[in-house]
Amino acid sequence: MTPNAAREGREAKIGIGDNVIATGLARGAAARGKRIAFGDGKRIIWDHNSEPIFRGNPNIAPPGSERDSDIEWNPFRKGNRLYNEHDVPGNRWRWNMNWRCTPGELFFSGEELVFARKVGAGFVVIEPHIEAWKSCAPNKQWPRDRFAEVARRLKKDGARVVQFSYPNAMPLPDVESIATPSFRHAAAVLANAALYVGPEGGLHHAAAAVGVKGVVIFGSWIPPEVTGYDMHVNIGSDTRYCGSLSACPHCRRALDAITVEQVYEAAASILGG
Ligand SMILES: [Zn+2]
Repeated sequence: MTPNAAREGREAKIGIGDNVIATGLARGAAARGKRIAFGDGKRIIWDHNSEPIFRGNPNIAPPGSERDSDIEWNPFRKGNRLYNEHDVPGNRWRWNMNWRCTPGELFFSGEELVFARKVGAGFVVIEPHIEAWKSCAPNKQWPRDRFAEVARRLKKDGARVVQFSYPNAMPLPDVESIATPSFRHAAAVLANAALYVGPEGGLHHAAAAVGVKGVVIFGSWIPPEVTGYDMHVNIGSDTRYCGSLSACPHCRRALDAITVEQVYEAAASILGG
């Protein structure tokens, strides 16, 4: 991979979850006759993932509509995410403990819905992978073999367990793989799932947006109070949410303290009840 391609790949993934959070902030605007302009009050500022996540959303104003009369400004944007603040000397995120996420919304196209329908319904989506380009990735990565064991147990109980395949995915043994042409297609498939099992990240925000229950592995890097949803079972371990932007032994210990049993039992009880 050329450095350019690597950079583009990285850019392409930045802030999927953040854009889904934004759709939660915009919820209900159209019903009030408004559209939300995410930006600095003068300019609507979108990032690489804003258009794909906001596509079809009547609550959000695209760049170019700054002067329209139905605009309501919201400062949430790339570089100003409000739920965190960059502590530069500490090389970490400082979390805004007063922040809460409202489930977002995704508006699928007919083609995306047809794609999703072909996959079926009632399955478990398991996602072991944290994007490795993120410097904080090791602080969020629950061990792959534990994900594999959770999948094995759920399958033994009769569940259909699937995972999405995409470049750099982390395939689990004996787990059905679904190739999705885009994040939107993956989210459309996810909408028909019975359960999401995986890390805090883009897919857990998408699960909330499409109303799917989840067992979300937080560890001790980011607080479930801040980016979690009440509709999910959020698994943390200790409450010193360090936000460290380098590989952190505290986060490693916290993730290792989360057992297969904890995750499996949370998943089984959602599927059973
Ligand atoms: Zn830590």
